[in-house]
Amino acid sequence: MPLPNEPSNSIGHVGLSRDSELAAELGEFDYYPPSPADANDFDDIPAEELPGADDLGAPIETVYSVDGSRVEVTIGDERRNKRVGFIDIALVELNLAILDAQAKHAFVSPSKVANLGETHHVRMVLPSTNTLLDSESTHESWRQMTYRNFRSKGVFDTTLFTLYHDLLKRKGRLDSHGRLRLEYCPAPDCEHQQLFVNSSTPDQCPECGVTTYPTDALRVHERVTGSQSNEAALNVLMGIIEHLVLLGAAHDIWMSDPAGLERTAFIKDGPLAQFDTGAWIHEPIHNRIGEFKQYLRADGRSPLVYIGIHKTGDFAAYAESVRDYLDGPTVLPFSNDDIYEYVIAGDRTKDYAYKTYYGKNFLYKSGKGSGSGHVLAFLIPRQYEEGDLATKEGDIVQDVDAYDELARTISVLERILTIQYRDGLIPLVLAHEAASIPEALGRIVLGTLAEVMSEASEEET
Ligand SMILES: [Zn+2]
Repeated sequence: MPLPNEPSNSIGHVGLSRDSELAAELGEFDYYPPSPADANDFDDIPAEELPGADDLGAPIETVYSVDGSRVEVTIGDERRNKRVGFIDIALVELNLAILDAQAKHAFVSPSKVANLGETHHVRMVLPSTNTLLDSESTHESWRQMTYRNFRSKGVFDTTLFTLYHDLLKRKGRLDSHGRLRLEYCPAPDCEHQQLFVNSSTPDQCPECGVTTYPTDALRVHERVTGSQSNEAALNVLMGIIEHLVLLGAAHDIWMSDPAGLERTAFIKDGPLAQFDTGAWIHEPIHNRIGEFKQYLRADGRSPLVYIGIHKTGDFAAYAESVRDYLDGPTVLPFSNDDIYEYVIAGDRTKDYAYKTYYGKNFLYKSGKGSGSGHVLAFLIPRQYEEGDLATKEGDIVQDVDAYDELARTISVLERILTIQYRDGLIPLVLAHEAASIPEALGRIVLGTLAEVMSEASEEET
C-alpha cells in the first residue's frame, strides 16, 4: 500500500523507482506520455459541464474510506522459518461537517483521527510458512483460518461471511439447494472438479474426503505454500476483504436507512477491481452496488458516490505525466482507445480489464493544490450497454453523460483533498494511517505475540 506522505509516483521519482517490481512491469508496457500539444487535444470536460453539475443533489455528510495492510512475521528461531501472516483493514467513518470545520488547518495530524471520525478494524491472523492449525498442511490450515476469520470478523453487525455468501449467490455459484459449486477440490493432490459442497459449513470432497470450506471458492489457498513467503496470498486476501468491508459499510446503511446512501460517499484505496483467484467477485460486487444505485434512482434520490483511487501503478503515473497540461477543475474520461494508447498497451477490440474491474477509469485535475494542482486517477462503478445498472452485459458504456454521479463525485473529492499531501484525500490518509502496521514495529510486536500464542498452544497439546 502506498504511503500518502511519499512523493507522488512518477517515472524517475523516489516512490516508484524504489519498487523494482513495479518499475520492471512498467518497463514492459508501451508507454507514451503525450506531448504538451497532444495533451491539450484531450477531450476533457470542465467540471461545470459534467453530468449532474447543475444540481449536485443531496449533500454528502459522511465518507467511508477503506485501506489495508499486511505483514508476514517470523516467529521463534529464524532457522525454523516459522511464519504467521497478519492483515489489518481499517474502515474510517468521517463526518464531513467536522472536516469542513477542520479544513482551515493545513495539516491533518494522525492524532486528530479520533476527532475527525471513527475507525473500525478488521484484523486477522493467518498461518503461513511452517505453521499449522489442526491440520497437516499450511495450505489446509490457511483455508480453515480464512473460513474462521470470515465467520468471526465483520463490519458493524454483518460478518464477512454473510457479505461473501451474498456474492456467491449473486454470481450463481449456488445450486437450487443452496449447494456451493467449487471448480476444483481444494486438496492439491485431488483432481476432482466441479464438486458441490455445503455453502455455509465445512463439508467434504466426495472423492478424497478432504474438508472443504465455503470460502474455498476464493481459491486464495492456491497461492499458499508451506515453505515460502505467503505475501502474494496475503495480498489477494487483503484485497478481497477491503472490497467486502467497504461494501459492508454500504450494506449497513442499506439495512438501517437506505435513503442514507445518498448522503454517504464510499472511497477505496486502490482500483474498483479484484485480481487473481478472487477476480470473480468483481461481478457480484458490481451487481450489489448497482442495486443500491437503482434504488436511489427509482426513489428519485441523488446518485450513489462510490469511488476507487489509483494511488500507484499505470493510471497514477499517467496522471502525473499530464498534470501540467490540464486546466482544472476538469475531468478526463478514459475510453478504451485512450487507455490503450496512453496508459497500457493492450487489445483495443476488448474492453479494458473486463474480467477484473467493476470501476470505470477517469482522471480529475483539481483547480486547487500546490504546484500545478492536484490530479487523481479515480474510478466509479461501470455501466454496461445491455441490461440495467446492476447487470454486467455487453460493452462498457463510454458515454460520459450516462454517469450522472460524476459531478457529485468530483465535488466530494474536491472537499476532501488535503494540501498536506499532494493528491492526498483526507479519508484515505486517515485509513492508511489506521491500517498501517509499521513494518519494523509490526515484526517485533506481532512476532512476540505470535510466539507467546504458539508457546501456549504447544503447552496445551
Ligand atoms: Zn478431493
